[in-house]
Amino acid sequence: MSWSASTPTSGPRLHLRVTASAESTLRAGHPWLYAQSIREQNRPGKLGELVIIYDRKDKFLALGLFDPHSPLRVRVLQVGQARHIDQNWWSERLRAALHEREGVFDGETTGFRLINGESDGWPGLVLDRYDRTLVIKLYTAAWLPRFEEILQLVQTSLQPARIVLRLSRNIQKIAANEFARTDGQIIVGSPPEGPIVFRETGLQFESDVVRGQKTGFFLDQRENRRRVEALAHGRTMLNAFSFSGGFSLYAARGGAQTVTDLDISEHALASGERNFALNKHIPQVGRCRREAVRADAFDWLGANTKRKFGLIVLDPPSLAKREAERAGAIQAYRRLAAVGVKQLGHGGILVACSCSAHVTAPEFFSAVRQAAIASGRAFEEIATTGHAADHPATFEAAHYLKAMYCRLD
Ligand code: SAH
Repeated sequence: MSWSASTPTSGPRLHLRVTASAESTLRAGHPWLYAQSIREQNRPGKLGELVIIYDRKDKFLALGLFDPHSPLRVRVLQVGQARHIDQNWWSERLRAALHEREGVFDGETTGFRLINGESDGWPGLVLDRYDRTLVIKLYTAAWLPRFEEILQLVQTSLQPARIVLRLSRNIQKIAANEFARTDGQIIVGSPPEGPIVFRETGLQFESDVVRGQKTGFFLDQRENRRRVEALAHGRTMLNAFSFSGGFSLYAARGGAQTVTDLDISEHALASGERNFALNKHIPQVGRCRREAVRADAFDWLGANTKRKFGLIVLDPPSLAKREAERAGAIQAYRRLAAVGVKQLGHGGILVACSCSAHVTAPEFFSAVRQAAIASGRAFEEIATTGHAADHPATFEAAHYLKAMYCRLD
């Protein structure tokens, strides 16, 4: 099969000229070109077609994947230096991503991210590993016309037992109608009988790779979970927005006396319970008491005045899905941290997380700080964290994850 043939081209090569400001942002490594920044286009482009962007001096600036249906019209693959995109180029790209992860994980961690989209040179594509199952998640329809080729490459290089395809909501219709691809489709191997069990630093977790959020598990929080483990000894822990209880299990292994999973979803809490059971053989986990509370965390934290915790993790879903929601989200983070601080006993530790790309790290940290100041208690900032090694972030909008650790008097 010819790789260039997979590019649905017809006629002359698709090329563009863009505004001066888009030119400089692309040159600086920003991987997205919006439709409104296009000044000139030689012909209509097709979904997934390779497009070349020329600069003012008619020199090669970048090349990327074209998406005629999205305002995010081009996802950049290569900038600065012109390259022929053939099978070798794609395998080199995959090798580079795999190389970045070499030696980062031992056999105790069998679930981690292999490709983190743009920041690994694969715009809008994520590849996660859960034991011998791989999950490919597409965030742009531009990959659909070349999915077969990507699949072959992944299969040859990694030889997984199973590959599951996940699709972001906005591309599910086009994927089904034009490519016969559906979210949760098993592309290689047999359908799993249930969630996939994998290991993260020796703890076992399940991941619902077919239907679960993201690709089934929040792999991005691993390093924060490890920190929580180191802080948990002897404490009573509240895991707000617990999902499948990742933070709780680390706290338990770190010697927490009790962990409380708090989530609005029954399904998430049930998964948390199964994950806890999977690790009962670890003595500290066996000794730790787990409780589950199904409630809206904002309401529950606001209403609970009696109980105090020694360690609270706040890891809500993104509170700003759009730029327009940014200011509201910053306020919500502050309110959430404020009600969290109220539940912390003397010497208690707050771990406040944000996964909103639209809220910057300084904005988020300042919101948490304001909540701590407003409590009137003395406090110490223990740490702030960002992205883990398997979740690189090479441009501003990619830095979605941040966490702040504070100890309150
Ligand atoms: N901390 C988790 C990931 C959290 S994902 C981990 O490390 O794996 C966000 C979770 O928040 C989801 O499980 C979702 O069900 C839950 N959630 C969303 N809105 C909520 C609300 N208002 N109150 C409580 N939980 C909520």
